[in-house]
Amino acid sequence: MSITQDQTTRQDISLDREVREAAVSLESQSPVSSDRHTDPALRGLAGRLRGRLATAADPDWDQARSAWNLAVDQRPVAVAFPADAGDVAQVIGYAAEHGLRVAPQSGGHNPAPLGDLSGTILLRTTLLKDIVVDPQAHRVRAGAGALWGEVNAALAGHGLGALSGSSPDVGIAGYTLSGGYSWLGRRHGLAVNHVLGAEVVTGDGRILEVDADTEPELFWALRGGGGNGAVVTRLDFRVFPIDQVYAGSLLFPIDRAREVFTAFETWTRDLDEAVTACARLLRLPPLPELPDFLRGQSFAVVDGAILGSEESAHQLLEPLRALGPTVDLFGVMPATQLAQIHMDPPAPTPAAGGGVIINDMSAETIEAILAVAGPEADTSLLAVDVRLLGGALGRPVQDGGAVDHLPGRFLVFGVGVTPNADLHALVEADVRSLLRGLGPWRNDRTYANFSESSEPASRFHSPEVLARLVAVQEAVDPDQIIRANHPLR
Ligand SMILES: Cc1cc2nc3c(=O)[nH]c(=O)nc-3n(C[C@H](O)[C@H](O)[C@H](O)COP(=O)(O)OP(=O)(O)OC[C@H]3O[C@@H](n4cnc5c(N)ncnc54)[C@H](O)[C@@H]3O)c2cc1C
Repeated sequence: MSITQDQTTRQDISLDREVREAAVSLESQSPVSSDRHTDPALRGLAGRLRGRLATAADPDWDQARSAWNLAVDQRPVAVAFPADAGDVAQVIGYAAEHGLRVAPQSGGHNPAPLGDLSGTILLRTTLLKDIVVDPQAHRVRAGAGALWGEVNAALAGHGLGALSGSSPDVGIAGYTLSGGYSWLGRRHGLAVNHVLGAEVVTGDGRILEVDADTEPELFWALRGGGGNGAVVTRLDFRVFPIDQVYAGSLLFPIDRAREVFTAFETWTRDLDEAVTACARLLRLPPLPELPDFLRGQSFAVVDGAILGSEESAHQLLEPLRALGPTVDLFGVMPATQLAQIHMDPPAPTPAAGGGVIINDMSAETIEAILAVAGPEADTSLLAVDVRLLGGALGRPVQDGGAVDHLPGRFLVFGVGVTPNADLHALVEADVRSLLRGLGPWRNDRTYANFSESSEPASRFHSPEVLARLVAVQEAVDPDQIIRANHPLR
């Protein structure tokens, strides 16, 4: 049986994203009197904000302190929802005065390395959502709270595509500040290389406009430094005149994983940079909202996007199509729909994951992956992605920032859903086994966005880059008020 793209709709997969985002947005904006706060100092701070401050005294405290990853139990001193950079400066000033730190959080996809946030004010950028598209200049100006799905929605109809991630509700800020691997990446490089400017509030409380000419050293550090030293309140970035792409996925029964991964590795040698792709093992849960052919099924998948004409895309994909997938969802689609193809969980989810960059994928590498998550494995992992690097993703760029490319040949990421503590421990153990098994092929560097545990900064940066990042941090945030999920030291 072969199911084509026409027989299903991507809306089935994208589920209720818009409804959920609207609800979250309304809740976080609902007025809660600042009188509620029992601590007079916090009450004073709340009174000075145009946005909102939530504390444990608020009825929606649990919602306010939740990240996208619901498995992480964040217990900060308070949660600030700034309405502008001035509010951020107020929160930072308050934290400095009271011996606290400030943890900025945008999409909330990678909170695990932060731990429980004691002694910290969580600063959620949820209210900073303004998105302005300049279709002539191919630029977007977006508040740091914007999610990729929202940017894509704003771009729809302009014939422009963004270097967005595989999930519509990943935040533009966290994603971009550490790199940003998109389905257009092998042609256009990491998203961070296309940042044109930013509004930030430094750890010493200054509101700055930053670009290549103004505060160039801070601009360098922002582009890859993961938000250490400053809170970003707005990003300006380049988008591309890409209207349509040929994208989707080929689904094979998981029993064919060895054959599919082997063919994928062969296919990716010398592959045209027009293609960005991923081979993955995917075990879909029996969710009622999934279409019949996906619900509760396990697959070996190749998904991705191809730039260029439909005819050349057909030719490029042919070696994989020749394997005879059970389901073929590749087809022409607007570039703004790219965040739908990977079937990432469409709503906040309790999860644990971890990743590594590997330099090669030999038959032994494939066996190491299959041993943990292949068809015969008893695994708790929902997915293991092997995303193709190389092309523009692997090349340094002139005038780039602290991270402007990724080394290695593939980016591997294992993830599982963890609704309870037992499953959480199981998923973490399976992720560790996966990463340990890949040890022989592992690159010394790893990708901060795919690292969901505390790792030394030397895993993300060379000694020279790290020393330069620390020097910038000392200049703008000498007391290390800003607390990043992956700190420099
Ligand atoms: C389902 C899913 C799909 C993903 N897909 C991709 C993908 O396709 N490509 C890819 O590259 N990555 C992907 N990721 C990883 C993702 O890029 C990281 O988790 C990233 O950190 C998410 O950004 P965020 O704003 O949502 O997260 P957050 O948890 O809000 O931010 C992570 C960290 O970034 C810093 N930060 C965030 N906002 C600010 C700010 N305004 N100012 C200063 N610092 C800030 C903070 O240190 C924060 O702790 C995915 C993750 C998940 C869970």
